[in-house]
Amino acid sequence: MTTSSTAPSAADARLSTGALAVTRHLLTHGPATRGDLGDYLRVSPASMSRLARVLVEEGLVAEEVEPVPGVGRPRQILSVVPGARHVAGCKITDTTAYGVVCDMLGDVKATARAALPARLADGTVPVTATVQVLAQLVARLRRRVPSLDGIGVSLGGVVDNRSVVREGTFLGWRDVDLATAVRQRTGLPVVITNDVTALAREQLWFGAGRTHATFGVITVGAGLGFGVVREGQVVEQLIDNGHLLAHAPVDGHGPLCGLGHSGCVAAHLNRDDLERHASARAGRQVTLAQLVERRTAGDDTAITLIDGAARALGHLAATFAGALQTTRIVLAGEDVATFAASPAMAETVADRLRPGPHETQRCRLDITVTPYTFNDWAQGAAVTGIQHVLGAV
Ligand SMILES: [Zn+2]
Repeated sequence: MTTSSTAPSAADARLSTGALAVTRHLLTHGPATRGDLGDYLRVSPASMSRLARVLVEEGLVAEEVEPVPGVGRPRQILSVVPGARHVAGCKITDTTAYGVVCDMLGDVKATARAALPARLADGTVPVTATVQVLAQLVARLRRRVPSLDGIGVSLGGVVDNRSVVREGTFLGWRDVDLATAVRQRTGLPVVITNDVTALAREQLWFGAGRTHATFGVITVGAGLGFGVVREGQVVEQLIDNGHLLAHAPVDGHGPLCGLGHSGCVAAHLNRDDLERHASARAGRQVTLAQLVERRTAGDDTAITLIDGAARALGHLAATFAGALQTTRIVLAGEDVATFAASPAMAETVADRLRPGPHETQRCRLDITVTPYTFNDWAQGAAVTGIQHVLGAV
């Protein structure tokens, strides 16, 4: 049984469906006239006036009246007030909590970070001490931006009901009601989300979602992550935590992944697997950073491994796009730029798209690369927090 992560006072602040639709449109597409908003959202002029009045009274939206030369009525232009809400976003890695404060537009106003407590004898990160670290991190951020309206926390793993960490991949957590614990310590509304889902939410409002209602996010770093947005809706929880895509076969004679598949995506692309293969070939421990240096120096093994990773990433992006039926894939994560820079990725995608001799349908994929830092991940958590505070999540 889980409890709601929203305090009663915050629930009152959540917007009606109509007001949320107007706010979301203004946030993602910029200022608009009442008339255009009404047309786009299919709302009558009377309803649009009422929604505008409510949002202006809430302080979320400002309205400017622009005279129209000649006869017509003046245009009423609505825009979001960026500082109307502020939310703290925290990204938890295996060792560190990264925090930011964002305004309504997702712009970062303050940053801070804190080390997580040392692991217990069983290898797990202690929950209560972690909640304390998060509360202290939020308190530090609050000294910089006092008017916090909520908190978004993201982490790798499986999250239920935007509250309970069913499986915290890098923390060793099982069934931890993190939202309730953080809310009790801070008194603020809290939303917990998978970290890649948070990036997908940020992209939906402020990135790929501005032009594509359906798109996929792939993250490459400490593990592979997947985010899915279909018809403007973020898929909250993947059925397989990304397993089916991460272990899709690329070549049957390739290196083994940790699960024993020959030449699956993870075997080529996952940082741990890549470092294991490089180390086995070198006869000593080799990190990804060292592998990249060796590739630059022309080392054959390093070229083979990194190009193999780039090909796997190309196959993965193409397969994901085909399954989702979207032309837009966002590649993100700390390691992604290393692989996307290899021509092998683009060549693989081009080869996958090459039509047969009698095929007339042509398709192009719009694959963007965004090498996120940990603060960018925290920003994704904050944007999810903003969406939560407004009632969109
Ligand atoms: Zn595998």
